[in-house]
Amino acid sequence: MEHTEKIKTKRIKIEDVRHPKDEELLEAAQILRNGGLVAFPTETVYGLGGNALDADASRKIYAAKGRPSDNPLIAHISCMEELAPLVKEIPEAGRVLAEKYWPGPLTMIFPKSDIVPYGTTGGLDTVAVRMPSDPVASRLICLAGVPVAAPSANTSGRPSPTTADHVWQDMNGKIEMVVDGGAVGIGVESTIVDVTGPVPVILRPGAITQEMLDELFGRVEIDPAILGPMKDGVRPKAPGMKYKHYAPKGDLTLVELKDETIEELYKPGSALYSRVSRMMTDSGKSWKLDPESFYMAWAVNEEAVRMEKTGARVGVICTEETMDEYTVAVKRSIGKRSSADSVAHNLYAVLRDFDDLGVDYIYSESFSDSDLGHAIMNRLNKAAGYHILKV
Ligand code: AMP
Ligand code: MG
Repeated sequence: MEHTEKIKTKRIKIEDVRHPKDEELLEAAQILRNGGLVAFPTETVYGLGGNALDADASRKIYAAKGRPSDNPLIAHISCMEELAPLVKEIPEAGRVLAEKYWPGPLTMIFPKSDIVPYGTTGGLDTVAVRMPSDPVASRLICLAGVPVAAPSANTSGRPSPTTADHVWQDMNGKIEMVVDGGAVGIGVESTIVDVTGPVPVILRPGAITQEMLDELFGRVEIDPAILGPMKDGVRPKAPGMKYKHYAPKGDLTLVELKDETIEELYKPGSALYSRVSRMMTDSGKSWKLDPESFYMAWAVNEEAVRMEKTGARVGVICTEETMDEYTVAVKRSIGKRSSADSVAHNLYAVLRDFDDLGVDYIYSESFSDSDLGHAIMNRLNKAAGYHILKV
């Protein structure tokens, strides 16, 4: 491995993250131009940036992350003029999507031009490109004057970083600079869409949702690799999806309600309806929680308490609404059940938190998988190795 000698990592803080000043970013831009690495905030997660046209810089990114070098990097640009030199052509769907969702949390796959080194694309003839909307990211890329390859700024196998402190934990001593722009907005990685074929294909769900894309194109396809565990011999179109991404140190189980359970919860006269109504009245919560959320929390708590009794250290991932329902010792709220935005925003920080807490088992509530929920459940399912308990 190269790039292993300890580097003195500089950390700078952007004063007003909505309006970064050029003086604050010039040194970072210079580092990128000179082939060095700079971590910076984007609207999705923190990125670990290097010059996308410099195969050496890409090698340094792989080394700093400990990432397999066949897992391609996304090239980040700051304006439309910077796209043409990177690609052989811009398919119509690419134009439509760029017009509608750039700058923003959307990555597109294009046929690559000759100036993009295979060292950046993991040996592929295609290149992934994104134009971030975060003002710090955008201005930094513009000042660097080169497209910036920027995978998430975490050690491979750890949750993506959503604050500069997360980046510091993983990258201090390995890269030239960390630009601190506070906590990111969205919290999960960009949507990846392949626009090289006849129909756009979603390779990774994110904040630009399937519903939003369907509205533009009638219907888009979804790569099977994001729907469930991969069968042997099936190759995902986004090479990164084949890696068992992040696995928490504790054994994570997602608790999901069966369709029949949900149906019964809302069917007056059913045994479950009566039982849950009684439990909710007894706990004085009937005014506060819907039966689904109440029952979800009850089921997660039951499992967690059962495991706690064996002497294991157990934690639960709960929500603002359900937090009070838990009797288990270690609980962390991931956000509001009523707001997928808040869950996406906190997801990786909560997973990092559990790694630090050193629990043996984690039980998590699950969430609707429509809209942004699709990205949330994709990341949670991967973290759980698709270990799901249906109740
Ligand atoms: P990250 O930069 O960590 O958000 O991950 C980037 C992901 O984008 C990779 O893991 C791949 O799955 C995907 N990706 C990047 N380039 C390509 C490409 N040319 N074709 C398909 N997927 C890509
Ligand atoms: Mg990543």
